[in-house]
Amino acid sequence: MTPAQLRKFDKYGLESVGDLLYLAPRRLGQWGQLTDLSNLVEEAEVTVIAQVVDAHTRSMRNRSGAIFTAVLSDGKTEITATFFGKHPRALAGHERALTPGSRHLFAGKVSQYRGKWQLTHPQYDAAEELSEAEAAKRAQKPFPIYPATAKLPSWVIARTIKTFLASLAPETLPEVVPNEYRQQAAKGSTWDALHALHDPKDVSQWHWARKRLAFDEALIAQAVLAQNRLAREEHPAPALLPKENGLFDSIVAHLPWELTSAQTRVIAEISQALESTTPLSRLLQGDVGSGKTVVALLAMARAIDAGKQAALLAPTEVLAAQHLRTLQNLLGDLAQGGTIFAQDGSVKLALLTGNLPMAQKRQVLADLASGQPMIVVGTHALLSEQVQLPNLGLAVVDEQHRFGVEQRDALTLKDGLRAHTLVMTATPIPRTVAMTVFGDLDVSILDAAPAQRAKVTTHLVSAENQKWVERIWERASEEIRNGGHVYVVCPRIDANDLSGEDNLQTLLASSGELAAVETVAAELAEQPALAGIDLVTLHGRMSSAEKNQAMADFKSGAKPLMVATSVIEVGVDDPQATMMVILDAQQFGLSALHQLRGRIGRGNRPGLCLAVYATTNAEISLQRLNAFAQTTDGFELAQADLELRAEGDVLGVEQSGHRSRLRFLSVRKDEEIISQAREVAGQIVAADPTLANYPDLRAAIESQLDEAERANLQKS
Ligand code: ADP
Ligand code: MG
Repeated sequence: MTPAQLRKFDKYGLESVGDLLYLAPRRLGQWGQLTDLSNLVEEAEVTVIAQVVDAHTRSMRNRSGAIFTAVLSDGKTEITATFFGKHPRALAGHERALTPGSRHLFAGKVSQYRGKWQLTHPQYDAAEELSEAEAAKRAQKPFPIYPATAKLPSWVIARTIKTFLASLAPETLPEVVPNEYRQQAAKGSTWDALHALHDPKDVSQWHWARKRLAFDEALIAQAVLAQNRLAREEHPAPALLPKENGLFDSIVAHLPWELTSAQTRVIAEISQALESTTPLSRLLQGDVGSGKTVVALLAMARAIDAGKQAALLAPTEVLAAQHLRTLQNLLGDLAQGGTIFAQDGSVKLALLTGNLPMAQKRQVLADLASGQPMIVVGTHALLSEQVQLPNLGLAVVDEQHRFGVEQRDALTLKDGLRAHTLVMTATPIPRTVAMTVFGDLDVSILDAAPAQRAKVTTHLVSAENQKWVERIWERASEEIRNGGHVYVVCPRIDANDLSGEDNLQTLLASSGELAAVETVAAELAEQPALAGIDLVTLHGRMSSAEKNQAMADFKSGAKPLMVATSVIEVGVDDPQATMMVILDAQQFGLSALHQLRGRIGRGNRPGLCLAVYATTNAEISLQRLNAFAQTTDGFELAQADLELRAEGDVLGVEQSGHRSRLRFLSVRKDEEIISQAREVAGQIVAADPTLANYPDLRAAIESQLDEAERANLQKS
């Protein structure tokens, strides 16, 4: 292939010619029996081999757009093929292909237009040198249809790939499933699968090919996870044995409420696993408000009872500070450890964040380095090199999705000693995704919330509807006068903000001005409906002192209106907060929206969430918002999210033109393939941990890891 030819394939994100082989056809087309054109009926599906006798493009008379027509003849009867486009340019591909005199196979549905037979947007395939008999044979075979563009019609892609495939020798193609494992699940070779994908004999062969290629992808993913599991188990963790009348027992005895049965079950699962020297590596999944914090505390108490340290890692300063207060509240008198009030069985608590005053920070670092049993709550600052945790027994990571695996390791693997790890997430993860993405973790699920939470109603409001938008601020004012607190969430900090808490998606998608905290706060201060109501702002660029002050003013009701970025997404807890206005809601992902909404209706008063969205041409954003408005159930939303996202996105791979790692495997539908691949990967890695005997599999893993690293680099 020439570079110019390859360049046409740019939009498919192909990085090498080899990638072309894995370009997934969208679907399979059927030509069908050749049709006799002299005997047509309206609406009939026809397949004909015909010659173009006349062709031209013109602009449409009554509306914008262009039309390309080609008069086709099978020698006896004429029929017109018609293609519509926004511009003549969009039709250039058809014009080039369907030149007068050329012969093609056409398939489509016939209709009548002004008394003449017509095929609108038929499929076609060059059939220059085919005899009638050959064409009839060709018409029997299905053909793959690729994601085509005007410049690059499907049949050109098909022809390019077929030519390329024919030029290859079988041994040049990687076979990631070792021969001896093919009998179990993945019958046949990748080589055969690629041929069947691009040039299938029949429909069932084509489906087989897709499944077989999906298995390759699943195996690569699962082999990585199996290696991770193995690597983790190489380093033993301290066994955290229960202590009679220790901290764990005291906490349980002093809790202000009964543990729910879900909490009791999960705590038992975790406690038992902590008694082993096999490092715990568990994902605790529970919707917003399901009561994960006390589970974390009790797990940490196990570490203290075993004479070890425990760390709780939070994604933001606000959340770290809040966790500390929550733990203090739950511990009550038991939180006096290390002070003169210390009573037996109490525990020392410390906070470590980047913004801590120097002297205080030094003290905490010294305490931690001394190895004395204590609980430390902190942000990323805990991961810094100056932090020594020589006696760490357990690390709890809150909101796991904010941290990478490497960060987890930085905390839990020091000097070859491994701490147990519990990661917590409120973002429900469907089973297949958990197996694929977090396949190296065990999973515990908190499936019941402590008490019925107050109901939160959600409405979508178009930003174009000025009346409604004004009404929002009146509503906010009523809410506040009734004793409620109101959040206003913006995607940006200020008009110049291109980083802050923005995610990449926000940056890419933002065409117009997005709501920014500083601007919105200034506007709301002038808003007549909100006269006399004091407001605070909260975002990631404020110092911790400022943030704490803002939170305190908001919670006390002194300043009951908060304009914030999505920093408040995780864990912020104000039972008085009853209303949330999300501005430019189309900018937020479904799980972020769900987390944000989780901030209201936490007390016994019902909540109101108003998602204000700017008109967007992304159909998907609207569908996302509709799903958001329809249910408050985290698991339902996670499922909707999964269905709305592209496969590649599910695994967190940026879709901005970059090739997705999964072309054939669907984490939505291929649960069986994933389980089988998990099984096979486990066997392969157990027999040959470094994959020395399986160079193709190893190479595939390495190239994927490289890719992931590149993706990470781009993000940071
Ligand atoms: P999560 O972190 O899972 O969103 P939290 O741990 O913050 O949830 O708990 C939510 C609220 O429920 C907190 O106010 C907490 O004190 C309360 N809570 C937790 N467990 C129970 C329980 N067993 N009974 C009553 N309230 C509980
Ligand atoms: Mg929480």
